[in-house]
Amino acid sequence: MRIGRHMPLNGRPLQALEIACSLGCETIQLFASNPTGWRPPAGGEEAALEFAQAARARGLAPLVVHAPYLINLASPREETWQASISLLSWTLARAALLGASDVVVHVGSHRGAGLEQGLARLSQALRRVLAGVPAGVRLLLENDVGAGHTLGQRFEELATVLERLPEEQERLGICLDTAHLWGAGYDIGSPAGVEAMLQRFSELVGLPRLKLIHLNDSRQALGSHRDVHARIGEGQIPVAGLQALLNDSRLAGLTVVLETPIRRDERDREDWDHDRQHLRYVKSLRAHDD
Ligand SMILES: [Zn+2]
Ligand SMILES: [Zn+2]
Repeated sequence: MRIGRHMPLNGRPLQALEIACSLGCETIQLFASNPTGWRPPAGGEEAALEFAQAARARGLAPLVVHAPYLINLASPREETWQASISLLSWTLARAALLGASDVVVHVGSHRGAGLEQGLARLSQALRRVLAGVPAGVRLLLENDVGAGHTLGQRFEELATVLERLPEEQERLGICLDTAHLWGAGYDIGSPAGVEAMLQRFSELVGLPRLKLIHLNDSRQALGSHRDVHARIGEGQIPVAGLQALLNDSRLAGLTVVLETPIRRDERDREDWDHDRQHLRYVKSLRAHDD
């Protein structure tokens, strides 16, 4: 199990790698373009390759790219849907240059058009995206808290999408975010709760489809359908549950990425010392800490 965190690049990607190493990250997740923008940067291929090489040299590869938040593959609006397909396609191609193994995407919202309609749009969009980009980078669908009309809060929905794309088995997987599980009502606050959740996931989706865990605590209540990330041990999810997840032998091969808030110092800069301690604490929750 490799543990790392989502790294803000702040316009200085190589420096971000250096910081990640100093924190003790074994992998990182990053955005390949502005997470709230539709337009990816023009060019930058050489810088991406340079970044990949530097990440490899530092032992941080393969890494994970998080797709921009605007993407909504389930959108009933044609314009949004098309733009989502092209931006996700760009992101997958860029992820390959960056040396990423996976791109994580939120499954989106049907915006009132209905669950069935949303799932149909989503699978159609995924088929198009995967047909248009070279294989090599996996696409991971992330579970959701289920706010508003978003899809993917229930394992049944994720399973349905994967079942509709049997020919893409190797290229599609799942990312489970612990704060989203909690918000969606999966009680992962105890070893027994984690066991029940994994059982359910295994029955409906299949554990081999799980490739990545976003390890976050949540400020919000179980089943609240709200999503506010917290550092591990500072939110509402009992640590015993998250610890059970980190020590489950069935998940030993997975990548774990923290998307926890980074404390800011009095000059409003990231307090990396504090974050280093947090990562050390999270790693110490593993029975075989190294
Ligand atoms: Zn996400
Ligand atoms: Zn979240």
